[in-house]
Amino acid sequence: MKIFSSAPLHDPIAPPRPGAHKEIRNTTCYMCACRCGIRVHLEDGKLRYIDGNPEHPLNQGVICAKGSSGIMKQYSPARLTQPLKRKAGSERGAGQFEPISWDEAFSMLEQRLGEIRATDPKQFALYTGRDQMQALTGLFARQFGTPNYAAHGGFCSVNMAAGMIYTIGGSFWEFGGPDLDRARLFVMIGTAEDHHSNPLKIAIAKFKRAGGRFVSINPVRTGYSAIADEWVPIRPGTDGALLLAFMHELIRTGLYDRDFLVRYSNAGQLIHADEDRDDFGLHVRDASAPEVNAMYPQNKLWWDRLSDRPVATHSEGADPYLLGEFTLPDGEHEGRKVRPAFDLLAERVRTCTPEWAEGITGIAADTIRRLAHEMGITARDQRIELPIAWTDCWGKEHDTVTGNPVAFHAMRGLAAHSNGFQTIRALACLMSLLGTIDRPGGFRHKAPFPRAVPPSAKPPSSPAAIKPNTPLGGLPLGWPASPDDLFLDEAGGPVRLDKGFSWEHPLSVHGLMHNAITNAWRGDPYPIDTLLIFMANMSWNSTMNASEVRRMLNDRREDGQYKIPFLVVCDAFQSEMTAFADLVLPDTTYLERHDVMSMLDRPISEFDGPVDAVRVPVLPVTGDCKPFQEVLIELASRLKLPAFTKADGARKFRDYPDFIVNFETEPGSGIGYLAGWRGADGSKFMKGEPNPRQWEMYAQNNCVFHYELPRSYQYMRNWNRGYMQWAQRTRLRRFAEPVLIQLWSEELQSFRSAAQGRRPGRRPPEHLRARIERWFDPLPFWSVPLEVQASDLQKYPLAAVTQRPMAMYHSWDSQNAWLRQIHTHNYLFVNPKAARAAGIADDDWIWVESQWGKVRCQCRFSEAVEPAASAASARPSNPARSGPGTRSARHRARGSSRAMPTSRNAVSCSTT
Ligand code: SF4
Repeated sequence: MKIFSSAPLHDPIAPPRPGAHKEIRNTTCYMCACRCGIRVHLEDGKLRYIDGNPEHPLNQGVICAKGSSGIMKQYSPARLTQPLKRKAGSERGAGQFEPISWDEAFSMLEQRLGEIRATDPKQFALYTGRDQMQALTGLFARQFGTPNYAAHGGFCSVNMAAGMIYTIGGSFWEFGGPDLDRARLFVMIGTAEDHHSNPLKIAIAKFKRAGGRFVSINPVRTGYSAIADEWVPIRPGTDGALLLAFMHELIRTGLYDRDFLVRYSNAGQLIHADEDRDDFGLHVRDASAPEVNAMYPQNKLWWDRLSDRPVATHSEGADPYLLGEFTLPDGEHEGRKVRPAFDLLAERVRTCTPEWAEGITGIAADTIRRLAHEMGITARDQRIELPIAWTDCWGKEHDTVTGNPVAFHAMRGLAAHSNGFQTIRALACLMSLLGTIDRPGGFRHKAPFPRAVPPSAKPPSSPAAIKPNTPLGGLPLGWPASPDDLFLDEAGGPVRLDKGFSWEHPLSVHGLMHNAITNAWRGDPYPIDTLLIFMANMSWNSTMNASEVRRMLNDRREDGQYKIPFLVVCDAFQSEMTAFADLVLPDTTYLERHDVMSMLDRPISEFDGPVDAVRVPVLPVTGDCKPFQEVLIELASRLKLPAFTKADGARKFRDYPDFIVNFETEPGSGIGYLAGWRGADGSKFMKGEPNPRQWEMYAQNNCVFHYELPRSYQYMRNWNRGYMQWAQRTRLRRFAEPVLIQLWSEELQSFRSAAQGRRPGRRPPEHLRARIERWFDPLPFWSVPLEVQASDLQKYPLAAVTQRPMAMYHSWDSQNAWLRQIHTHNYLFVNPKAARAAGIADDDWIWVESQWGKVRCQCRFSEAVEPAASAASARPSNPARSGPGTRSARHRARGSSRAMPTSRNAVSCSTT
């Protein structure tokens, strides 16, 4: 029997020990994905407390509850401390393991993975959680030769990334954000308070002190929304309708930035409008003009108002019509009907009136009109002008940079619905109509963004990309521009295990890790041999159905073999996933390892230029833990993956720190994982030879490298010639062509054309044609979320959302001893009107029921919940992904809402 001590794991108010050796070490936090700079205070080598690093650009000394509670992660009794092998003869899930050495673990993996790689590399799948090392995990998968790789984004914010990047070439959070230093109106929509934590709190505080107006549109008024000047409650899953109505109003009242749209979007570019022709919906191109770049052709046309005829886009002195229908006069398209992209958008939103949106969103039509007007006049009448000269990509010189001070911030609340992609497209188009893209006071990119629309990285397009003992012929994840970029077999079926980039999921740019276990268990499209999971509790996030996932993991074939024969889990903590593993690899905490937040991945860039950062170990490794980074370097070296192996077959990199210093994207490219202190003596940045003292130099500089762009490169980067050329030189960008905002998306049209049989080549299978035709609409639209369509709204009239509290990130650290003291209860917050209508009193224990099941929980009245439609706002009790150590949900509070998906779910409430 094991006796647990009642003494606290750590006593924060214990007096310092006399004579103790004290030291402070700087590193980067990882209690959420914000990556603030922290100072770790040690006493005789033991962690005493953590505070924010005042010299760090991101958090400037601020620390949140999560960040300071890292100490409880470090000393958690739930940590894994040694490699474990499932005991021979024991069942998965029984938790019977025997400790083994790392050498034995590596030998097992080397042999197994070596055989797979030599025969059929796609039999190995690697899926990771909300980690920050996808440049390395992706490189490992590609070098191994498997396409079966992804991180958690496919069930998280992929719509936010894809919807924005396919429209403006950038997105929120790591990719860009609101310029609150200069905005006058800030509209936050669908953002939980755990997102972008400290940096956003600092920025909102400054914004409000400077007199800015903050409007929050959200079903619940907690976190950031609680300090908004105006809270606009909205029914979950209806944001797209609101955004379309805003556009309707801006166009109706003429409060859109015409000049911005003309020059910086495809608003004026002509689109083929003859429905009976195959090129319907595609841009009109002038075959006699140079294409410039086949991936991003520049030979499109405007209809010039001055000469009343078609001219090359961006012709000097021309001014395009944005509205109307025209007939091409001569040339190869003679007699063809064409319309500017803006005209098509205007037509789309013509019926999206505030009254229409009121019925969907629950927001009064007058409020919608008032907010749209406020956005429009703030953008128009409070224009900013900065004395910064710059030159655009067409050679026009500008004396100033101007901006329209309306800034938005949005996240999963908009994106994580089945209508999320088109909702995010609507948001990007709205921001563009207001003229707020990469301008002061609006949305601003963070390096390496903006990317091209779409980015030039593509997944492989045929199974020939997979060959034994050979790296994958393409990137595991990429950005399809048309059906030609889908990853399909000869019969048009999926090649990836998760069916990413197939006709079922064409734009799954982050992969679909939530499909991995189910598909592998079904053998659809094929069975696999080995599944390696890092930092992801897939018992929860793979279909959100813990009991089914357990059953699948334990299910056997006729020969007695498990259907997924070998499951390897690397994590810092015990979880359901580790209990079902055949091999458990104990990860370190973030305080015990080297790590990079790389320009090749998701750096911590600021608006004014690229910023990357590192973590350095500030504590010794606990037990026999090993950082997953080291595991990958070791495995890659043992398997002799080409990028990790010298010509003579010897390993190229001693360990992870050595890899980070010496890896180059191509031999001699001078581009590596870290942009700072490159070159033999550390005097170069962005590009330069490896520097053996690079880690040391980061450590001496608060673990962060910040390059401030010249001011003339800091704005209008989609179309800024100087910036583009600099970005091309430093290899942030492959091409220097302008990144035009795509109000009308030709990429989406190309999929729709394929479904309609207008396009030669690949066609969707019959059973998916209608779906592709409907959803690949080149203009944003709103539709009822599929979850709602599938629900009996008479029976389940309310909507439940999981709210994510500020003191936890997603569901990371739901086991953290300190953070659990902040959130001691897991209430279901219900608007009193909705509760009383169901006969429920404050604090009653109630049943919440949906078509998926029912859970018992405690009701807490709250005026901060949208009254008519939204029933519940409970903090998530399902670890949708495990953090660098998130523990089992079995220990969560009673009355949890864990049967509920995080997106809108129709429910009813009743007393117990
Ligand atoms: S916001 Fe995130 S990264 Fe910053 S201190 Fe808090 S937990 Fe750490």
